[in-house]
Amino acid sequence: MNIVVQKFGGTSVAGLERMKRVLEIVKRTLAEGNKVVIVLSAMSGETNRLLGLAQEWSKTPDPAELDVLATTGEQVSIALFSMLCKDAGIRARSLLGHQIQIKTTCDFTNARILDIDTLTLRALLDKYDVLVVAGFQGCDEEGRLTTLGRGGSDTSGVALAAALGASTCEIYTDVEGVFTTDPNICDQARKLDRVSYEEMLEMASMGAKVLQIRSVEFAKKYNVPVHVRSTFTDNPGTIVSQEDPSMEYVLVSGIAYDKDQARVTIYDVLDQPGVAASIFGPIAEKGILVDMIIQNTSRDGHTDMTFTVSRKDLEKILPLLDAIEKDIGAKDIQYDTGVCKVSVIGVGMRNHSGVAARAFKALSREGINLLMLSTSEIKITMLIEDKYAELAVRTLHEEFELDKHPGERKVGEV
Ligand code: ASP
Ligand code: MG
Repeated sequence: MNIVVQKFGGTSVAGLERMKRVLEIVKRTLAEGNKVVIVLSAMSGETNRLLGLAQEWSKTPDPAELDVLATTGEQVSIALFSMLCKDAGIRARSLLGHQIQIKTTCDFTNARILDIDTLTLRALLDKYDVLVVAGFQGCDEEGRLTTLGRGGSDTSGVALAAALGASTCEIYTDVEGVFTTDPNICDQARKLDRVSYEEMLEMASMGAKVLQIRSVEFAKKYNVPVHVRSTFTDNPGTIVSQEDPSMEYVLVSGIAYDKDQARVTIYDVLDQPGVAASIFGPIAEKGILVDMIIQNTSRDGHTDMTFTVSRKDLEKILPLLDAIEKDIGAKDIQYDTGVCKVSVIGVGMRNHSGVAARAFKALSREGINLLMLSTSEIKITMLIEDKYAELAVRTLHEEFELDKHPGERKVGEV
């Protein structure tokens, strides 16, 4: 039996008319001779509403109870959609995460999937043509309900596809796929036909919201191709899959940006072993992610240390920074929230040099100053003043001709 897994996001299930469209897609997939496992999110806005209630009721809501509350959103979606299916004469039933033993860690509100009971699922697929599974939820060893972090239904979809050996996991959403950059700030942005897991991870970590990062990690680990597409058109979307040789010929796949950035500089710290550990150890202990780090060359045995964190984390580390300043005898600490990260991403960079130089030159033509830089195998990240974010994205998009199909780009391509 061929099994297709299709996940529908909050906007795709927000109301009867939208769900009727989902039903059309499901009917079509059945008519092609497949069994269908549908994963649904809560109707758009519902998870926020529920979490808002918790904040009204309790100053510090118990995380386990938050999960019991938040999982109700998906329960509503699957019950209503299963009714629609039955009315249409389809053999369908709803399933909550714990009913198919989506076993997770006990990290309430942010649990990880450990195992799925595929025997039960397969037995159910003999009896039903459509299984309608609640996304975002599972249960821990003790049977307590858990959720997988915001946007977690994507991960439910990919995990079910992996467990059932489905050929792809289709993620239906309200955009047409993954774009070369954010279409809201660059009207030249183009939908990508394909993108590798690695590139998608880089884009997602820069704030591209189309897929939950964890779902991409999962897809990569189990090699599940993910097709991100729109519920509201029949156009093909973007396939997120393993890198293949054709992808290497595309120098750059996308430009991502992240405005949620702050830069911290610690001046005049002793340049000796253990100092970096004294700075970053306490920050890491708080579970805060430090991103770009630069240590200047030493003068008279002293140096400056600069790093970036997200703006919301800056508030959390300010008290720590005071303690660190005293501890290591730094002269001064300054921070700046008017900064933004812009990245050029592409697996083709592995085999080509010169991408960074081209990016720097393009930005300098626009008079954009680079405050910090970092590179990885498939990414060049530049920290700039945030007032230039849009201009930088558009400039880089143009420089690498991302509005054109890779075969039509002229400069720098193989
Ligand atoms: N309903 C959950 C959320 O809003 C999960 C999801 O939609 O993927 O985060
Ligand atoms: Mg989502």
